[in-house]
Amino acid sequence: MPTTCASAVLEGYSSPFDATAVRSLREAGAIVVGKANMDEFGMGSFNTNSVHGAAVQPGSEGRVAGGSSGGSAVAVKTGMALAAIGSDTGGSVRLPAAYCGIVGLKPSYGSISRFGLVPYANSLDTVGVLANNVADAALLHDILAHPDPNDMTCLPAPPSTKRNLRRPLTIGVPAEYNQVQLDPAVRDTWSRALTAFEAAGADVVPVQLPSTVPALAAYYVLAPAEAASNLAKYDGVRYGRARDMFGDEVIRRVLVGTFALSAGAHESYYVHAQRLRRQVVDEFQAAFAHVDAMVCPAALTAQAPTLDEVKHPRSGGSEYVTDVFTVPASLAGLPAVVVPAWDGVGLQVLGKWGDAAMVLDVAERLE
Ligand code: GLN
Repeated sequence: MPTTCASAVLEGYSSPFDATAVRSLREAGAIVVGKANMDEFGMGSFNTNSVHGAAVQPGSEGRVAGGSSGGSAVAVKTGMALAAIGSDTGGSVRLPAAYCGIVGLKPSYGSISRFGLVPYANSLDTVGVLANNVADAALLHDILAHPDPNDMTCLPAPPSTKRNLRRPLTIGVPAEYNQVQLDPAVRDTWSRALTAFEAAGADVVPVQLPSTVPALAAYYVLAPAEAASNLAKYDGVRYGRARDMFGDEVIRRVLVGTFALSAGAHESYYVHAQRLRRQVVDEFQAAFAHVDAMVCPAALTAQAPTLDEVKHPRSGGSEYVTDVFTVPASLAGLPAVVVPAWDGVGLQVLGKWGDAAMVLDVAERLE
């Protein structure tokens, strides 16, 4: 099948081999029915930056599917496929899952092989799963999470989702996720979820993650910096002129990333962002010393914006802001699941590194 990353630059390209993730699924008996739409090279939050056009939720009056793995989410939501995979670098599996009302799992960094995945930002890239329910997501995770000598960041013995049934649970609530811009519908579902956990005997405690908002800025320096390096191979000699072959967003990221890595700027942008990333990791580690999992929103709004709203945003930069709740787990490499809670609003469960079992267990209680 063609591998184009929804980019004109790879039009007509077919990979000579299957990614490890695809091979594992085939070996487990899966039938691969197709490849799905996405934002070009994974860069976007609404699946509107694609050479194939936008991915929109059918029957939704023009609401976008979310990005970048919007096509995968629509395929699952509409029953075209039982489950799908996508890459999650800063939220690309979780945001479409939240917008489409399905389950989206980002594994711990290093638990699923990235061999054959076209890299966007290698230190953040993961292969994630989209499914109709938590049980299906867990099943796929266990098929996909295994060692792979072809990916040096893939763990020798990846954690599985075998449930450990530890009780009672301590659930952390990061106050920094209660942003003023948060849709009241999301806040309402979130607080009902916490009340339900308490009623079921869990300890629900506040945790502090002060770098949550700065993490977004750090991500939008680090991801473009890595992307600029990765995309350098699509040069003008072999692929044609960048401005003819890449969409606007990809060009913007390459420019930002190249600038952030340049001699004059690298200390105040790249190195500063790396320090922030370390802070995010440390804050999560301190918080997870006291809690089993955290429950928080996945997106600022319960529903996806319409295509029209995406094309005419009311204020600048809103596409990046959309990722504020998904990016921290990516920077820290932590497992995270988005699950539609009872009323269909997506909530996110974050866990300790390697503890997919816990996040899936907690997410299942929200279904
Ligand atoms: N929206 C984020 C970005 O544009 C995340 C995308 C992703 O996870 N691939 O970088």
